[in-house]
Amino acid sequence: MKSKGKKSNMAAEQTLVLIKPDGLIKGLTGNILTALSDAGLIIVGSKVVQVTRELAEEHYQHLREEKFFDELINYIMGEYHVKRILALVYHGENAIKKVRKVVGATNPEEAEPTSIRGKYGRITTKGVFENVVHASENPKEAEREIKLWFRPSELVHTIYPTETKKITKSEVFWK
Ligand code: UDP
Ligand code: MG
Repeated sequence: MKSKGKKSNMAAEQTLVLIKPDGLIKGLTGNILTALSDAGLIIVGSKVVQVTRELAEEHYQHLREEKFFDELINYIMGEYHVKRILALVYHGENAIKKVRKVVGATNPEEAEPTSIRGKYGRITTKGVFENVVHASENPKEAEREIKLWFRPSELVHTIYPTETKKITKSEVFWK
């Protein structure tokens, strides 16, 4: 008998995908989502975000010492293309590896020609890899990134523990 639920659920991962500003301005959203759908995962959250410097620097904190860091922050904030990105969380078995495979290597010139980055990425004259998409690298980074970009209530399903807190704050409503 085929076993359901528990075992497969334990290997389920979530991973963050960002369609970067170059992907949006080039009108690649549809192509990218189609390519990602081959991974057989489900989307559990998505939103358009205007990336602040704070968010950009936090997201790429591990690259702070790199010489391309400032250019990378400008790039992800949309200074060269459009000031927004599309953030998505994919869920499923081995989601991280599967998405990275479809996305391709960091350097678009080294990426499989059929991968998203291989097809659509480029290297700027300043040496930045404009590689169209971000995808989490490992489970630890995926968790950090998903928690950075999304609140639990923005995901239809999360694999990370949550807690409920009572807060008082003003919120914007439709008039
Ligand atoms: N990047 C770059 N030059 C490099 C390495 C990275 O421009 O030599 C940029 C590129 O846009 C990349 C991002 O910095 O996607 C984050 O780098 P990371 O090493 O985390 O690669 P990724 O996980 O995105 O494949
Ligand atoms: Mg990375």
